[in-house]
Amino acid sequence: MASNPTVLMRLVASAYSIAQKAGTIVRRVIAEGDLGIVEKTCATDLQTKADRLAQMSICSSLARKFPKLTIIGEEDLPFEEVDQELIEDGQWEEILQQPCPSQYSAIKEEDLVVWVDPLDGTKEYTEGLLDNVTVLIGIAYEGKAIAGVINQPYYNYQNNEKQKLREHRNETKAGPDAVLGRTIWGVLGLGAFGFQLKEVPAGKHIITTTRSHNNKLVTDCVTAMNPDDVLRVGGAGNKIIQLIEGKASAYVFASPGCKKWDTCAPEVILHAVGGKLTDIHGNALQYNKEVKHMNSAGVLATLRNYDYYASRVPESVKNALVP
Ligand code: AMP
Ligand code: MG
Ligand code: MG
Repeated sequence: MASNPTVLMRLVASAYSIAQKAGTIVRRVIAEGDLGIVEKTCATDLQTKADRLAQMSICSSLARKFPKLTIIGEEDLPFEEVDQELIEDGQWEEILQQPCPSQYSAIKEEDLVVWVDPLDGTKEYTEGLLDNVTVLIGIAYEGKAIAGVINQPYYNYQNNEKQKLREHRNETKAGPDAVLGRTIWGVLGLGAFGFQLKEVPAGKHIITTTRSHNNKLVTDCVTAMNPDDVLRVGGAGNKIIQLIEGKASAYVFASPGCKKWDTCAPEVILHAVGGKLTDIHGNALQYNKEVKHMNSAGVLATLRNYDYYASRVPESVKNALVP
């Protein structure tokens, strides 16, 4: 352990363990078979028992250890005493051993805002597209996303017959040696960890975008970029993972719909490895506690060649999206 870990590094180390616990909750709800689906604003805006339990677990676990934090979770839940079984008290030792970037060493608990998406990709979760799902814990300071954790509960999951058999037997292996699930974390100025950074081959333009919240603006914007391929997948966390693992070169979502809890943690992971995430006009996103939750002017994110994509956003799309 670093001799005296800073508040930020203690928070990230706790968030890592808490996101892992949330990932186990997400898997358990599927295994138990009752998703408890509720429609929020419409049929493509859903909440399940896993969203509710994971948020209770994450927010209560964070608040117990860091009572002065501002914590903003996606789900609107009635206040209730949380079952002790949902509380995670651990902290990931490897993170405690890392040095805190000097610009963050004096940060106090009350200066931090934590944005929680307990289950990103809920629509896909209800449809069995389980590898689209992530748990997102983003940490902001002075309005800027500076640290984040992404748990992908079904990393290594393969939607095949063997996998179904294993699930039936309640095993947690996806292959002979593959452990199901992983956690990615990052801090600006330190780096991002828990994955192998890879780029799309030079000259290839592969766009990743929404599969369940598509509309004309999104399609117009994607088409204007003249892509070699378009991947339609669920989840903001999942799409950023595609960027850092060389599966897609740009995440394009020219529409309102995505919120601050969707972008905070993924943005940090992308920025920590030299990428860029903005709204569709090129403005940085703000994460102070008073900010409106909706990313009204959409999302544009790339690992490399940001300007190629930014320069191709049609004026008609820009004019339709007010920050
Ligand atoms: P998607 O790329 O469709 O998976 O969206 C990324 C994130 O933004 C997910 O958390 C979605 O639930 C959210 N999102 C995007 N568009 C909408 C929308 N029209 N209504 C509700 N949530 C949305
Ligand atoms: Mg989400
Ligand atoms: Mg969610």
